[in-house]
Amino acid sequence: MSTAPTAADLDAADPLAAYRDRFVGTETPLVYFDGNSLGRPLRVTGPRLARFVDQEWGGRLIRGWDEDWLSLPERIGDELGRVCLGAAPGQSVIGDSTTVLLYKLVRAAVALRPGRTEIVLDRDNFPTDRYVAQGVAAECGLTLRWIDVDPAGGVEAAQLEEAVGERTALVLLSHVAYRSAWLADAPRLTRIAHDAGALVLWDLCHSAGAVPLALDAWDVDLAVGCTYKYLNGGPGAPAFAYVARRLLEDPAQPFVQPVQGWIGAADSFAMGPDYRPAPGIRRVLSGTPPVVGMLALQDMLALLGEAGAEAVRAKSVALTSYAVTRAEERLGDLGVRLVSPRDPERRGGHVTLAHPLMREVTERLWRRDVIPDHREPHGLRVGLSPLSTSFAEVESGLEAVRHELDDLRA
Ligand SMILES: *Cc1c(COP(=O)(O)O)cnc(C)c1O
Repeated sequence: MSTAPTAADLDAADPLAAYRDRFVGTETPLVYFDGNSLGRPLRVTGPRLARFVDQEWGGRLIRGWDEDWLSLPERIGDELGRVCLGAAPGQSVIGDSTTVLLYKLVRAAVALRPGRTEIVLDRDNFPTDRYVAQGVAAECGLTLRWIDVDPAGGVEAAQLEEAVGERTALVLLSHVAYRSAWLADAPRLTRIAHDAGALVLWDLCHSAGAVPLALDAWDVDLAVGCTYKYLNGGPGAPAFAYVARRLLEDPAQPFVQPVQGWIGAADSFAMGPDYRPAPGIRRVLSGTPPVVGMLALQDMLALLGEAGAEAVRAKSVALTSYAVTRAEERLGDLGVRLVSPRDPERRGGHVTLAHPLMREVTERLWRRDVIPDHREPHGLRVGLSPLSTSFAEVESGLEAVRHELDDLRA
């Protein structure tokens, strides 16, 4: 008899188990392995959206801007900073998409390092990060210096040490790799970039809401991330940006981003002849804030604040560790390989399993309400959003993978 705890044992002992009921759809047998791509909605979010339409938008009308909405990007940014980012107030803001914020901050960063000609990044970074860097390099006459990484891992300290130097303006990295789930050693890599005189920009899309962050303590310069993955903000919810206060307040070098719009200007309603940036983080904004898109995010921040970042991470590690163990026990003999770090210290909130038939397996799973995603090449990505996923869900999802794979191989 095996003495390893079963999924039912782990669910019974999980101090965060009750949070699962707060999400829409968790009462059904559907297995959701994609909360790292689009988080489930909270049950309170539907009524909140309806209330907003009826009372705030419908009742306050244009008065809503002055009364509440214009300051939301900074207020929710501060809340996100407190709950998830380890950021003191005045450094985080909500708006745009991750891609657009990446562009703004990459441009701002290279402008802060005049004379330096290179951006360092890795070949396995998310496509939009690489494409934005390519665009800025073409626009500003810079060179990209690429780091090659192990597809089951990510950027290591020794690799970054070798890549950076006196030409490096910016290091652009993901904190958790979207494919392998490699969790980069952010404080150490940040120090390596700084020792070379470069700035660092962390993409937090796959870590915010699942992995505790300490941007101030790590001395990070810049960060961006989306809010529709582990922050459950809903499809197309706006992104966030972090800029360290020391960069915003340096009198010798103003912080300038390239999309100068009226909402990021010093006095939006003076309608003055020339752009003057707003003081502080507000200058990262450009146009009218996406107010409706920030409502669901507020609900999830409240929930994460209640659960606590360390407890959320502990559950996340327990879920991914269970998935790794069970995948090897149940799928190893079918030729499935783990292409994520085995060490939980180096692993984010998902696990990727490789087999040449995973594309077909994913198509079949979606038809039977088991929803992972497929990432080239041959990867089945099992995303385990900590507060909305149970151990029983992991078990039945992996059992379904076994069933479909077995069937396809027959
Ligand atoms: C999801 C994700 C993005 C998404 O960018 P959008 O502009 O929101 O589409 C960017 N970077 C990483 C690392 C991601 O995982």
